[in-house]
Amino acid sequence: METIAAISTATGNGGIGIIRMSGKNCFEILEKIFRTSKNNKLNIEKIKGYTIQYGYIINNETNEIIDEVLVSFFKNPKSYTRENMCEINSHGGMVVEKRILEQCLKNGAILAEPGEFTKRAFLNGRIDLSQAESIIDIINSKTEKEAKASINQLQGYLSENISSIRHELLDIMADIEASIDYPEYDIEEVTNKKAMTLLENVKNELEQLRESFNTGKILKDGIKTAIIGRPNAGKSSLLNTILKEERAIVSDIEGTTRDTIEEFVTIKGIPLKLVDTAGIRNTQDKIEGIGVEKALKVADDADLILAIFDNTKELNEEDIKILDLIKNKNSIILLNKIDLENSKLEKEVRISNLGKDIVKISAKNRDGIEELYKEIEKMFNIKEIDIDNGKLITNIRHKNQIECGIKSIIEAINAINLSLPIDIISIYIKQTLEDLGKITGENVTEDIISEIFSKFCLGK
Ligand code: GDP
Repeated sequence: METIAAISTATGNGGIGIIRMSGKNCFEILEKIFRTSKNNKLNIEKIKGYTIQYGYIINNETNEIIDEVLVSFFKNPKSYTRENMCEINSHGGMVVEKRILEQCLKNGAILAEPGEFTKRAFLNGRIDLSQAESIIDIINSKTEKEAKASINQLQGYLSENISSIRHELLDIMADIEASIDYPEYDIEEVTNKKAMTLLENVKNELEQLRESFNTGKILKDGIKTAIIGRPNAGKSSLLNTILKEERAIVSDIEGTTRDTIEEFVTIKGIPLKLVDTAGIRNTQDKIEGIGVEKALKVADDADLILAIFDNTKELNEEDIKILDLIKNKNSIILLNKIDLENSKLEKEVRISNLGKDIVKISAKNRDGIEELYKEIEKMFNIKEIDIDNGKLITNIRHKNQIECGIKSIIEAINAINLSLPIDIISIYIKQTLEDLGKITGENVTEDIISEIFSKFCLGK
């Protein structure tokens, strides 16, 4: 394949910058622009993989030194892409990095597309598609657990799990094919019975995997948490207390937080995507109206609602509306401002009747916040999350493929129940095999591959 080049380190000034090249002419291109400390050319014949050479990158038209560098060499197939590769470690400044890249391009390399190095690792068979996808997840990880889950996926835990499920299906296929090939032995009935048991097993395994996405999604996106409450209940104060910095507007004027603010935080390993919303209120005011609609909408698709009430005030119409909204939702009730005397809500039956967890807090003094975290931890079984067995999916594409696989399995089971010919059953099983194969990248279209890698950063 053609030789590609890109700056792999993040833009901006840094200690070092890395310019990467991969492809069949990688060393030849480097030979043109690299000089050793003794001003010698590189001896391509003598290059050994996993070695580093000190020297200079030069402009080979003017002989001007562009930077002092260290170049690491990787020889096909023992490299990230399985091609010949080199990484030029330069000083980390945009100008220098760009000038080195320019020299690579001028001497025969082409600019890599986003994710193209990893795409080559996939196309050259070093990693499968789910492993390639885990690389972008590692880079984008926001929590330790998410990073760990992604690294496990890169190690192939998920691929192994999918592959073992596919083997179970292949065994069934082998039996079915035998009974199609030797109809005179009348083994169809036995095959059907056996197939049924195995298919039920596979279906269960796939369903468990699909369910694991609920946890996977939390690890990846955080628990989408909406803080709702009437104006002045203390939403912004709570958000600030949690964030420990004044990012949201805290104000005595009712309804100042008109739009939604989202913040990702990890508290004791609990990943939360916090959404602060405007107070829920009946209003004709256009801007306020947007806030209210948004608040309702956000609350509606939140994983968790923190409903905050001002403990020094009687319930009003808005509070009651909120209580109604959270009735059937994952929610925790917060009675705020317990630092002030004058409790109005602790004995309020309209609150206790909901049967929700109630935590008394002072958003202002941080009282009760630890208890709130404990409640969240309990609600989402955060401590129970097992990420070490390959039975966790974090990627929506994988979930969709598993969903398709389950549908085909159900079709196969129905076909057996309806005593349909055995070759029809085999069509559905083949479909499941194909659906699952797409997770690791078998039979995927070029479009899907391009879409996946386009989400990568340049130089990865
Ligand atoms: P929001 O409109 O729901 O976002 O409410 P704010 O967070 O802006 O709070 C409204 C007012 O209540 C502000 O003056 C806060 O300082 C005050 N407040 C919020 N939480 C507490 C608390 O726990 N104790 C006391 N004493 N005041 C609070």
